[in-house]
Amino acid sequence: MNNSIYLDHNATTPVLEDVLSAMLPYFTQHFGNASSKTHAYGWIAEQAVETAQIQVAQLINANKEEIIFTSGATESINMAIKGILNVYGGTKNHIITCATEHLAVLETLDVLAKKGFEITVLPVNRLGQIDLEQFKKAINEKTCLACIMHANNETGTLHPIKEIAKIAHEKNVLVFCDATQTAGKMIIDVKDDDIDLLCMASHKMYGPKGVGALYIKKGNPRVTLTPLIDGGGHQHGLRSGTLNVTGIVGFGKACDIATNSMWDDGIKISRLKTILEQRLTLLPNTFINGDIKNRLYNTTNICFKDKSAADLIKNLKNVAVANGSACASAKSTASHVLLAMGLTENEAQSSLRFSFGKSNTMEEVEQVVAMISTLY
Ligand code: PLP
Repeated sequence: MNNSIYLDHNATTPVLEDVLSAMLPYFTQHFGNASSKTHAYGWIAEQAVETAQIQVAQLINANKEEIIFTSGATESINMAIKGILNVYGGTKNHIITCATEHLAVLETLDVLAKKGFEITVLPVNRLGQIDLEQFKKAINEKTCLACIMHANNETGTLHPIKEIAKIAHEKNVLVFCDATQTAGKMIIDVKDDDIDLLCMASHKMYGPKGVGALYIKKGNPRVTLTPLIDGGGHQHGLRSGTLNVTGIVGFGKACDIATNSMWDDGIKISRLKTILEQRLTLLPNTFINGDIKNRLYNTTNICFKDKSAADLIKNLKNVAVANGSACASAKSTASHVLLAMGLTENEAQSSLRFSFGKSNTMEEVEQVVAMISTLY
């Protein structure tokens, strides 16, 4: 592998050995369909799915009945947003979001806009924060949903989701939180934060790709969604299709591991990130993008003002880093997140995201600092 220092954990993470071991028997020995009710193959698979549901629910303090398995965060986002479309059927047709959301949210909302929904996209300040007063004022009698992410994938800036939910609920607006980057890294408590809908992806937290979840609150207000995928009525009719039992088992195991290890990981990883940041910002004309105080601990986004990110990446031969998010980098335009925060096109094109994970070391930090310093 050319990229021997991996600092792109916000794009994806490796599958942990213990996760893989938990999954393997479900490819071969326990290959049953979780919906087969007439034999032990099916019962074993169903039991494994239920265990995973409990593990995923525990990670965010939900109940297992509130977890729907999907193919990943993008599907969960589509399900949450498009699911609302039909429920309110034209009577409540206003959604609030913010300019730095992931494209999975912004593009999905664009589809709703074409169907007559009104979408308010809140601006952010230089740190990537929304103004809560502006959020409150944006709510009107037609507002049905607020889509505000927990941590931004490019800068790590955290939104105060508990306060956002409080404001929204005072006006009977549901809250959908994209927690793709924070699930498994930070404590999330959907009950205490009072979140109605929340999405997660297994591959961002050392589980397999192709599996994720949508948390749908059962309670007051009761959240009802129209399914995106119809068929045999799996998962209470909300998401039909044979369940990806191996993926779900791996996701559950990854959640279980994260529940027990996120605290220790956080201490180690934030130290590495802080040192990288302190050393790199000693270089001339560099600054950190995002909110340094309220930030996901594994992420730093640094602007190297007089350098192009593409050149830096070329020179960092054995290092996997990103400019922008994994999906946006295919488009090679400046990051919409950084532009929304007020960076110039040049500054956005000169910024790199470093996202740390469990296996990173101080030696790797030193190597990266040394490599970048030689370019000055
Ligand atoms: N939301 C956020 C914040 C993300 O970072 C990502 C992926 O990077 C997604 C949604 C989409 O996740 P996936 O590609 O796993 O569906």
